[in-house]
Amino acid sequence: MQPVTPLAALLSRLDNAARLPGRPAPRLLAVSKTRSAAEIAALAAQGQRAFGENYVQEALPKIAALRGQGLEWHLIGHLQSNKAREAAQAFDWVQTVDRPKLVAALARHRPPQAGPLNVLVQVNIDAEASKSGCRPQDVPALAEAIAAQPALRLRGLMAIPAPDPDWARRRAAFHAMSTLFEALQAAHPEVDTLSMGMSEDYLDAIAEGATMVRIGSALFGPRPAKPQEA
Ligand SMILES: *Cc1c(COP(=O)(O)O)cnc(C)c1O
Repeated sequence: MQPVTPLAALLSRLDNAARLPGRPAPRLLAVSKTRSAAEIAALAAQGQRAFGENYVQEALPKIAALRGQGLEWHLIGHLQSNKAREAAQAFDWVQTVDRPKLVAALARHRPPQAGPLNVLVQVNIDAEASKSGCRPQDVPALAEAIAAQPALRLRGLMAIPAPDPDWARRRAAFHAMSTLFEALQAAHPEVDTLSMGMSEDYLDAIAEGATMVRIGSALFGPRPAKPQEA
């Protein structure tokens, strides 16, 4: 018998979690911040394609080292406008678009030969003052602005609800995202991605309709305590 890898075990848990609500298994985004190009390559060799990075500066050398392997790179950390050019050139997806200025900057800097950049609107669903993400009521206008840019492709929504030990509050935040996502789909039928859920809470996110989960430590093992700065 083949040994069960952490990747295979996780994919099977995602598949099972989607059965009860009767949905397709969500896509797995492997969150590779603080992980080396070699660790990423090892997971890619097992079939994992999509990887998420938080910092543009940390990601660029890994993306360069693994070029030509058909990997898909997602930026999931806060993006400063002065890094928009590098992000638009190197990434396939930016999940953290939360203001009009960023929409314009990403569109301006996306190289035409790369095809449209996939974009998610990041929503600050639990109104945490310290976090990025737009207000729920700002989603429609931001989505319009993205959809109007040929260099960008609106794919959906992303959120990072605060870790909450209370099950009902956790579910309520994911549920609010699901409701926003349905409203967005009514206006933009092409959107297909609701990115929510991490190692500690992905089962709740899937139960509430996540189509993509972003998982780091449950896949690679615990991270070193202090993440690298950009
Ligand atoms: C680090 C991170 C994750 C993954 O976190 P884990 O708890 O390691 O699964 C997911 N999304 C974002 C935005 C992150 O910064």
